[in-house]
Amino acid sequence: MFNLLANINFRVTRLLLNVNIGVRLFTLMGLAAIVALLLAAAGILGLAASKESLRSVYEDRMVPVQQLAEIAKLMLTNRLLLQVALSEVSIGVGADQHPTLVLDRGVAFLAANAIEKNIKTIGSMWHSYMSTPLTPAEIILANRFAKSRGTFIDEALLPAVVSLRTANYEQTKMLSTTAHALYDHAGPALQALNQLHFDMAREAYTHGVKRYENTRLLALGVLGMAILIMSWLGLILTTSIVNPLQQVIAIFKSISSGQYDAPITIEGRDEISKVMLALRNMQTKLGADEAAIHQLAFYDPLTKLANRRLLRDRLQQALSVSTRNHLYGAVLIIDLDNFKSINDTRGHNVGDRLLVETALRIQSCVRQADTVARLGGDEFIIILVDLSPDEANAALQADRAGAKILAAINQPCMLANQLHHSSASIGLCLFFGQNATINDILKRADTAMYQAKSSGRNTLCFYDPQIQASLETHIALESELRNALPNNQFQLYYQIQMDNLDGVLGAEVLLRWEHPQQGLVLPDRFIPMAEETGLILPIGEWVLRTACEQLKLWAADPVTEKFLLSVNVSARQFRQPDFVDVVGRVLAQTGINPQRLKLELTESLVLHNIVDTIDKMKALNRQGIHFSMDDFGTGYSSLAHLTKLPIQQLKIDRSFVRNIVTNHNDAVIVQTIIGMANNLGVAVIAEGVETEEQRACLERFGCLTYQGYLWGKPMPLREFEELALQVSTT
Ligand code: C2E
Ligand code: CA
Ligand code: CA
Repeated sequence: MFNLLANINFRVTRLLLNVNIGVRLFTLMGLAAIVALLLAAAGILGLAASKESLRSVYEDRMVPVQQLAEIAKLMLTNRLLLQVALSEVSIGVGADQHPTLVLDRGVAFLAANAIEKNIKTIGSMWHSYMSTPLTPAEIILANRFAKSRGTFIDEALLPAVVSLRTANYEQTKMLSTTAHALYDHAGPALQALNQLHFDMAREAYTHGVKRYENTRLLALGVLGMAILIMSWLGLILTTSIVNPLQQVIAIFKSISSGQYDAPITIEGRDEISKVMLALRNMQTKLGADEAAIHQLAFYDPLTKLANRRLLRDRLQQALSVSTRNHLYGAVLIIDLDNFKSINDTRGHNVGDRLLVETALRIQSCVRQADTVARLGGDEFIIILVDLSPDEANAALQADRAGAKILAAINQPCMLANQLHHSSASIGLCLFFGQNATINDILKRADTAMYQAKSSGRNTLCFYDPQIQASLETHIALESELRNALPNNQFQLYYQIQMDNLDGVLGAEVLLRWEHPQQGLVLPDRFIPMAEETGLILPIGEWVLRTACEQLKLWAADPVTEKFLLSVNVSARQFRQPDFVDVVGRVLAQTGINPQRLKLELTESLVLHNIVDTIDKMKALNRQGIHFSMDDFGTGYSSLAHLTKLPIQQLKIDRSFVRNIVTNHNDAVIVQTIIGMANNLGVAVIAEGVETEEQRACLERFGCLTYQGYLWGKPMPLREFEELALQVSTT
């Protein structure tokens, strides 16, 4: 039912939208007027009908009653007139000469006249009574009354008129007695007739009242219906105007707030629909205009790259993002070499085409988030964002992007049917946070670009000569790292791990690079490089294999057979799909007891793809290998994650141990870590323990295994074995 109404509503509204509002309003008013007229007519007619009913009660029903009463009265008068005449007597002489009673002639004569007149009146009244519309029942009763009245007149009154005229007392007296009897005889017929008249009058009255009631009910019902229908029509009409108007207002608002994409649907053909149509056209035009203005304001018309204004804006943004994310960014200024000569010799059109081509090539070398701009002429500027948090790495990344751009520009290019070779000079400047202003950065990149030009073109220069130098060493070191493994330049150092009873547990193996020129290189310098280049895979496998071979050798000696070795595993290594296989193969080849081997993982490594990580860890656990969570406390692992991980040891990071005695916060953190480890049933070891105070403090907190300079730095195997022997025997 409700659905049906809603459906009707919807259809009517849709229909209305096709009719002009003026017509709609006019139609509604017309309808209202017609309904009002009909109502008034129905009321007037109904009331007239009921009035007519009530009138007929009186006129059609009561008039005959009155006439009958009149007739009855005249009949009674006649009877009384006889009695009056009989009361005036005198003694006279009769026909037999005997004295006899005689009526007073004067009185008797007058009575006779009156009676005669009354009889006539009764006759004419009866005639008019009978001409009123009577029902069959009334006619039967009327006839019965007419009969007894006729007898009353014919047998008593008419003879009495004769006897009165002759003043005959005896005769008159006898006829008066007859009249009396006949009058009484006519009474019941008259009464029955009257009763019938009254009954019918009451019936007519009841009927009239009922008609009146019906008329009133009908009028009220029609009025109610009319009000309902008119209200509904009014409501629909109003919503059919107000809703679209509200839509119009909303669109105006969105346009005035500078939004030009609000959807405008036009549903009808009325005035508002026409306004909507106009609005839609206006919106489209405004949107296109604004896009054109935006394009002109922020983009270079030739290459569609960002212009100076947008560049400055984006650079400002890049500085904020760098501040927030603690990541380096870089600005590159690219200037085409010898562009002027192309313009001069081959014309501006060819020059423009080269610029467009260059723009496309530069764009293909950078990421979506980076910005490429042209400031006019043949100068392009690039903002690289989200580089490494480490300056050297960031320099490396920027350098790679620059080299890629140089190579792209160096590709020959077809210009007006002629192959053209171009090159560029690139100036590069790193930025970090808000350390420098936009102008500083642009000036520095420009300086670097001129340096590149003056150092022979088709090259890239950093603004900071120090960065330039370290970048070069980095690049050199990277190429040397490739040969370190084949040239046997790696060596494992061992750092002893102890318990609180001065027992030797084993060692963590730490990698060292014996560089032919630079001497011992520490892992912090080359491990990230090895990760980036993928060299960590063979190097990591070599570390693992060397450690396992050492465990194998130790297994033969009762002094060292219980030693454990902890091996650091890098993220790239661990995420290799065949990592579990590689470890399994090394274990099989060396044949050591896997319980002696511990793998150190960092929190960030573990949290990366936690499902896969857990799978791998469990697979290795099943082979008997244990895991230690390295640098624990510096990451952001939540406890929830930690409980899911199959680890056997937490390694408290050395940054907490360093200040454990002096810094209350660090002491609390260490205590929390130890408590957590106890709850999880996981062992703890502290690294970076340098003083006896630190060790004692850790012991007091419940940490009973340690690693640190207090017992020894990482050292070559021989030294470690000597140290271990010495500590064990004391
Ligand atoms: P790590 O795993 O946290 O190793 C502990 C580092 O703390 C070592 O630095 C060690 O020399 C140093 N250390 C030990 N005790 C103390 C102490 O008492 N005080 C202080 N101040 N430092 C102490 P190292 O050997 O330079 O190693 C640096 C990092 O290089 C290691 O941190 C580890 O993440 C990585 N690394 C070292 N060897 C390997 C390896 O074979 N494979 C992988 N993937 N990473 C390695
Ligand atoms: Ca470690
Ligand atoms: Ca560590």
